[in-house]
Amino acid sequence: MKLTNISELGEFALIDRLTQNTKIHHNETIKGIGDDAAVLKQNNKLTLISSDILIEGVHFNLAYSPLKHLGYKSVMVNLSDIFAMNGTPKQILVNIGVSNRFPAEAMDELYEGIHKACSMYKVDLIGGDTSSSQKGLIISVTAIGETEEKNLCYRKGAAENELICVSGDLGAAYAGLRVLERENEIFKQNPELQPDLSPYKYITERQLKPEARGDVIKKLRELKITPTAMIDISDGLSSELMHICKASATGCYIYEEKIPIATETKIFAEETLIPATVFALNGGEDYELLFTIKQKDYKIIETIPEISVIGHITKAENGKFMRTPDGKEIPLEAQGWNTFDK
Ligand code: ADP
Ligand code: MG
Repeated sequence: MKLTNISELGEFALIDRLTQNTKIHHNETIKGIGDDAAVLKQNNKLTLISSDILIEGVHFNLAYSPLKHLGYKSVMVNLSDIFAMNGTPKQILVNIGVSNRFPAEAMDELYEGIHKACSMYKVDLIGGDTSSSQKGLIISVTAIGETEEKNLCYRKGAAENELICVSGDLGAAYAGLRVLERENEIFKQNPELQPDLSPYKYITERQLKPEARGDVIKKLRELKITPTAMIDISDGLSSELMHICKASATGCYIYEEKIPIATETKIFAEETLIPATVFALNGGEDYELLFTIKQKDYKIIETIPEISVIGHITKAENGKFMRTPDGKEIPLEAQGWNTFDK
C-alpha cells in the first residue's frame, strides 16, 4: 500500500481526514470541529472551548523568543480564538512538555508571561499537565470562554453584499519573524555582532508579543454591532477569507489599497523586495479579527479607527478576488502557514 505523505496532504486535509467520521453523542455539543472554537450549550449558556499547540523549532525559536513573551503569546493565541467566536475568555488550561535542558528558572519565566496574560485579560489558570519531553519545549493551551446565543459568530453566516472588515494592521508579525530570522543567521555567523533591532521594534513585537483583540470585541458590543461571520487571522488574510467563504458558501472581492499595513511593515517589505501585500495575505500570526457586517452598519464601523473595511462578499460563482490599485483582479489563494512545510 502506498503511504500518504503528510506534508503533501497539508494541515487542513489531514484534520479533515482524521475527523470526517467523528460522531457527536451529546445534544450539548452544538458545534464540534470546524470553527475557531467548539460551542457547548448547557442550560441556555454557551461555552466556547479552543486548543492550540506551540512546538519549539516549529512555532518558535528560543534563540530570539524570550520565554516570558512565549508564555504570553501561547495564551494570546488561544484567547484570540474565543474572541473570534464573539465570546469572552474565562479560563485556561496549560500543558507543557519540557526537556531537562531547561532549568526551573526558565519555566518560571515562561509562567511569568502566562500569569501576566491571565491578569491582563482577566482569565483564570485552572489546570493543565506537565511532562518531560525528549527534545525541546512543547506548550499547549486550552481556553474556555462564554457567550450568548445572540452574539455567537461562526465562520459561516456571511452573505452577499456584506462588508468585509479587519481590525488593526496585517503582515507585521510575519515581517517581524523575517527580521528575527535574518538577524539570528547573521549573529550565528558573527557572534561578536550584537543585532540592533531598534528600527524593527514594532514588527518584532508584533511577532513576539501579540495581543488578542478583546478590545475590538468590546467596542463592537458597545456599538451594538454583531458580525455575521468572524475568524481570527492566524494564517494570513487570504487563508482566513477562504475559510469564511467556504463556510458561508460565498465569494469575496477585496481592494489591495484598503488592506491595513503599518508603515514599519512597508519599510521592511521594501528592504526584502517583497510587496507588503504578500506579507498581509500570506504571512500569519497577526491575531487580528476578520469579520463581515451588514451594509447598514457601515456608518458606525467607519467611526472605529482600528477597523478597516477592505471589500465585500459576493456570490460563490463570482470567485475570490483582490483588485489592485491599477485595476487588475488577482484570484486569492489559500497560502497560509502550513505546519508541515519546511
Ligand atoms: P485555528 O487555526 O483557529 O486554531 P485549526 O485550523 O487549528 O483552527 O483547526 C480547525 C478545526 O479542526 C478546529 O475546530 C479544531 O478544533 C479542529 N482540529 C484541529 N486539529 C485537530 C485534531 N488533531 N483532532 C480533532 N480536531 C482537530
Ligand atoms: Mg482561529
